[in-house]
Amino acid sequence: MRVVLLGAPGAGKGTIANLLSEHDGSVQISTGDILRAAVNEGTELGKEAKEYMGRGDLVPDSLIMSMMEARLQAEDCEKGLILDGFPRTIPQAEELKKLLERLGIALDLVVNLDVPKEVILDRLTTRRTCSNPDCQAIYNIKSNPPTEDGRCKICGSPAIQRDDETEEAIMNRLDTYNEKTAPLISFYQQEGLLKSILSLKSQETVEKIKAALQT
Ligand code: ADP
Repeated sequence: MRVVLLGAPGAGKGTIANLLSEHDGSVQISTGDILRAAVNEGTELGKEAKEYMGRGDLVPDSLIMSMMEARLQAEDCEKGLILDGFPRTIPQAEELKKLLERLGIALDLVVNLDVPKEVILDRLTTRRTCSNPDCQAIYNIKSNPPTEDGRCKICGSPAIQRDDETEEAIMNRLDTYNEKTAPLISFYQQEGLLKSILSLKSQETVEKIKAALQT
């Protein structure tokens, strides 16, 4: 499949992308995960991105596009693509369209994960993420807690609250989403690719996406 997942922070893009990728082996490409790994490794990209991310601001389009241009040409993308957290702005969507045309890749579907604001806020404040950059498993202290001593069940590293999960940064991320990313919904509607799904339970959402891909 070649799918883009849109949705506010906390809408569950990462979780859904992961389930879809297990389903048919398509690669999950999360710009947030790539950026956090770059920050941890202290690469040039990581150094440039760090301040923006900590505040909950978007990383500049030019950095994202050069990172994604390279990523989308990697061999594993032939298995299929699930883009999670990218594109995030209209310029990124326009650039992505040109890039995919050049690479001869057509998107099958753009899914908008629609989740009520109260659910989003609750999820973001209770989310914990594995601090191991190679793992980044996601937990929730209410519904899917890490181990009793706060560690990742997969790799044993501490599961932590991200820097951008303070209340202030969360509010900023939601404002940024409404201003910069929500306009992508009509962009992809005009492209004839959009499917909006009310997404409260991941497994049900995955089934709806699979069904939409078959039509
Ligand atoms: P969330 O969707 O929960 O906000 P992500 O892990 O997708 O979390 O992204 C974390 C941060 O990484 C964002 O707040 C932003 O600073 C940066 N980021 C991720 N993807 C992009 C993108 N496509 N364009 C600009 N910044 C991005």
